[in-house]
Amino acid sequence: MINKSLRFQHNNHFCQRNMPDDMARPLIRSRGEGSGCRHLEASVAEADAPVIGVLGTGDFSRSLARRLVASGYQVVVGSRTPKRSAALFPEEAEVTSQMEAASQADLVFVAVFPEHHSTLLQLKPALAGKTLVDVSNGLRINRDEPSNAEQLADLFPESSVVKGFNTISAWTLQTGPRDGSRQVFLCSNSSTAKHTVMQLCRRIGFVPVDMGLLSSSRNVENLPLYLFPCWRIPIFCTLSLFAFFYLYNFTRDVLQPYITAKKNVFYKMPVETVNVSLPSVALVMLALVYLPGVIAAFLQLWWGTKYKRFPKWLDRWLTGRKQLGLCSFLCAVLHAVYSLCLPMRKSARYKLINLAFKQVTNKVEYSWVEKEVWRMELYLSAGIMALGLLSLLAVTSLPSVSNTVNWREFSFIQSTLGYTALIMATLHTLLYGWDHAFDPAQYRFNLPPTFMLVLILPAVVLLGRLALLVPCVARRLRQIRRGWEKSRHIRFILPEDVCHNGLEDVSNV
Ligand code: NAP
Repeated sequence: MINKSLRFQHNNHFCQRNMPDDMARPLIRSRGEGSGCRHLEASVAEADAPVIGVLGTGDFSRSLARRLVASGYQVVVGSRTPKRSAALFPEEAEVTSQMEAASQADLVFVAVFPEHHSTLLQLKPALAGKTLVDVSNGLRINRDEPSNAEQLADLFPESSVVKGFNTISAWTLQTGPRDGSRQVFLCSNSSTAKHTVMQLCRRIGFVPVDMGLLSSSRNVENLPLYLFPCWRIPIFCTLSLFAFFYLYNFTRDVLQPYITAKKNVFYKMPVETVNVSLPSVALVMLALVYLPGVIAAFLQLWWGTKYKRFPKWLDRWLTGRKQLGLCSFLCAVLHAVYSLCLPMRKSARYKLINLAFKQVTNKVEYSWVEKEVWRMELYLSAGIMALGLLSLLAVTSLPSVSNTVNWREFSFIQSTLGYTALIMATLHTLLYGWDHAFDPAQYRFNLPPTFMLVLILPAVVLLGRLALLVPCVARRLRQIRRGWEKSRHIRFILPEDVCHNGLEDVSNV
């Protein structure tokens, strides 16, 4: 049995030692690491602090025991082989048999894999009436089977099972919440048990998040198993668009000269073709960020209400805009880096030297085309502005930054500056294309220049947005977004109106 008062005196005695020397010592000492006092942060176990039991002596158990001890809890660890495992735990934690730990503790963490939960059944009487915290994770996403926590609750019906801590790694527990996620998702059918675990959670430096009843435990268990769930469609869109534009540019710029004039320009494939495809993807993706907002606005105008639900695909599209924007930003950054590296290529140097040599030998006049110079200056400037604004959008989409701005500031950055970025990027592309759309030589294999395809979506978005800015349209949209509904107009005829040509009075309610 843990002797609470003895343990308290023992810790108190330790902490009367010299403090400065102690600061250099590790947070918690393992057994046999000398007999100095613990770090200040490792507060003394209070006599009335609940005894926390941990079943299992693996990675999670060790890290949890250290954190609990550091936060002033009395810890008793239950192991099948206590003698073998004791050396791995801080000396303030008692390592004993599973039965002993279950009997002493007020609250028990089950830090064993779910496959082994049934081996704990012999502890049933000792755990009756106590709170069990199930920290286990599954191996794959569970969609319809009962969760580990629900199965544990079935095994121990007389205990209150709380699901939680499964999203916190042993590493985070050991280093403290400074160096990892601070949120601990908790759910249970017993509000008292959940409340107790929430308190413990706060005391050891984490932020509890109430996820409701134990029926949510399947979701909680699935949380660490998702692999970028919101990123699949944006990444798929980016890759598909890239493949499309790459093949398109390859056909026009590499294959066409080879087939029609036997001109070998395959060297363009790794850099030039990629560098023309990347900005195409970036601009189309940026247009895809703003297109669903325009569609949603037109749907609301069409329906005359904001209370009708958008189709599922539009809902998903609207919620995935951040990821689409970040993919667009990545392509734009890569395009900038590729463009900066263009003059470094051997092919570019040879071309430059050959041109200079041609000018000298053929006595060609020094060339300066004013129009081309202006075009390039404006083209670069618009591109740099677009990239700068996109960087700002990307930075503001980080949760740590978006938390520091209010809703108006956030929507100003994401909407006003976002549209400005779209305009700048469209201008950049238009300046790149210049008057090539009217040059028949540009229609290689009858394929129009790439920039013409790229500009379709941004043009649709910008024209749509322009239409929404027309005062009467904007006013109606504003009304709808303030709750006005076309179908909830009460149409009634005032008695006098019968004599006044029977005109209806239409009021909004
Ligand atoms: P581990 O290192 O393999 O430890 C599991 C422990 O379970 C063993 O040390 C063993 O301790 C105990 N155990 C009890 N009955 C057992 C049995 N019949 N067969 C085998 N072992 C048995 O695993 P872990 O990484 O600590 O993970 C433990 C639980 O925490 C798992 O459910 C896991 O999903 C969850 N979790 C782990 C992490 C993490 O970062 N590691 C994070 C979140 C959640 P004794 O031999 O002393 O009895």
